Amino acid sequence: MSAYLLRGARPLGGEPADILVRDGVIAALGTAADAGDAEGVDAVIDAAGLVALPGLVDLHTHLREPGREDAETVESGTRAAALGGFTAVHAMANTDPVADTAGVVEQVWRLGREAGLVDVRPVGAVTVGLRGERLAELGAMADSAAGVRVFSDDGKCVSDAVLMRRALEYVKAFDGVVAQHAQEPRLTEGAQMHEGEVSGVLGLPGWPAVAEEAIIARDVLLAGHVGSRLHVCHVSTAGSVEIIRWAKARGVDVTAEVTPHHLLLTDDLVRSYDPVFKVNPPLRTQSDVEALREALADGTIDVVATDHAPHPVEDKDCEWGVAAMGMTGLETALSVVQEAMVDTGLLDWAGVALRLSVTPAAIGRVAGQGRPIAVGEPATFCLVDPDGIWTVRGAGLASRSTNTPYEGMRLPATVAATVLRGRITARDGRVARHEDGRGTR
Ligand SMILES: [Zn+2]
Repeated sequence: MSAYLLRGARPLGGEPADILVRDGVIAALGTAADAGDAEGVDAVIDAAGLVALPGLVDLHTHLREPGREDAETVESGTRAAALGGFTAVHAMANTDPVADTAGVVEQVWRLGREAGLVDVRPVGAVTVGLRGERLAELGAMADSAAGVRVFSDDGKCVSDAVLMRRALEYVKAFDGVVAQHAQEPRLTEGAQMHEGEVSGVLGLPGWPAVAEEAIIARDVLLAGHVGSRLHVCHVSTAGSVEIIRWAKARGVDVTAEVTPHHLLLTDDLVRSYDPVFKVNPPLRTQSDVEALREALADGTIDVVATDHAPHPVEDKDCEWGVAAMGMTGLETALSVVQEAMVDTGLLDWAGVALRLSVTPAAIGRVAGQGRPIAVGEPATFCLVDPDGIWTVRGAGLASRSTNTPYEGMRLPATVAATVLRGRITARDGRVARHEDGRGTR
C-alpha cells in the first residue's frame, strides 16, 4: 500500500483526525474534508477511537542474538516489539559474543534490517567482554555502519570508577551516552531479592537499595565532573530518584529510565517463590513503586524502558535460587504504562508519547523516530485502543520466551497497528506480512 487513509484516529489522545499516509510520510492530517478525499488511496482504514502515538522507542531490550537464540532472536524479538507498538529498539550488548566490536554491532544491526520490523540500534559494550577491565572499541563502534551512540555493560555494572570516568570522557567525542546498570557488586554478592521485610521473612539474601543508590551518586558526580552524558538504567528505588533529582537540579546531564515492572509489581510477589518474579534490579516495595510513578510523572525519570529479558523455560522453571534474572516486556509495556500511569491520572497520552518515544529517541540519537504526528513527518506511529482489555498469556506472545510476570492478568490497551515509515508492521495482534514473506507470525 503506497497510500492509505486512517479515519478518526486521535493523535496523542486529542481530537479525532484523519491521517493520510502516502509513500511513507504523513501527507495530510485533519478532518475528512481537509485530509483530502479517499480517492486515489489504496485503502481506507477505520481508526475511530484509537489513540495515535509516535512509534515507541525502547532504550533497553535484550534480543539475545548472537549466542542465545534459544531465548530470543533479532527476528522474534522485533516481532514482539512491533506487536507492542515499538518502531525502534536498542539491543543490549550482553550477547555471546559480546557486542564490544564494530563487527558484532554491525551483525546485530544487519539482522535488524533483514527482519525489517523495527529499527534495531545496537548498544555497544563499555568494556571488553563486559569484564570491567579495559574499555572496548567505543570509537570504532560509533563509526561503524551501526552508528552506536549508547554504550552499556548492562547485566553488569561498570563498577571501577576510573573506567567509568574514562568511558564518560571518551563518548563525548561522538555525542554518545553511557548507560549504567547501577549495582555495587560487593554489596550484592549472592543477592536474590530486594533486601527488606520480605527477604527477612523468606530468608533470602538481600539486594539492598543502597547498592544501586551508591553507584548512581558516584556516577552523577563523575558525569558532572567531566561534563558528559550519563543515562541510568532501570531505576528501582525511591532513594535513587532523590539522587537523580538532586543531580538534575545541579545541571548534571543525566537521564534515567524505569521499567514497566518496577511501576507495577512489588517484592511481595516473591513470597510465591515463582522465579518469573526474579529480576535485576529486584522488585522493590510499594513505597518505591509510588516514588517511581511520581518521578516519571514529574520528569525526574525521563523514560520507560522495557528491559525485555527473555529466558528459556529451563532457566526460569526451576528453583528460585538458581533461576535466571529477568522478565519479558515488549508486548506488555504500553498496557502496564496505561494501568500504572494513565488510568491513575498521572500521565496523559501526550506524556506517554514523550516518555516512550520522543525522549528515548533523543537520548539514543535515533534519527526519524519520536517525531511529531504531523504533515511531512515519517509515518512512524502506533494506534492504541485504550479501551481494549486483554488477558496476558505468555504462550500467546511473539517472544520466543514465555517469562512474563503478568501471566493471567487482565490489562488495558491493545495495539491495533504499528506503522514504520508507512509500512504496517503489526495489525490486530498479528505481525504484518512483507512482500518478501518475512515477518509473518
Ligand atoms: Zn540491567
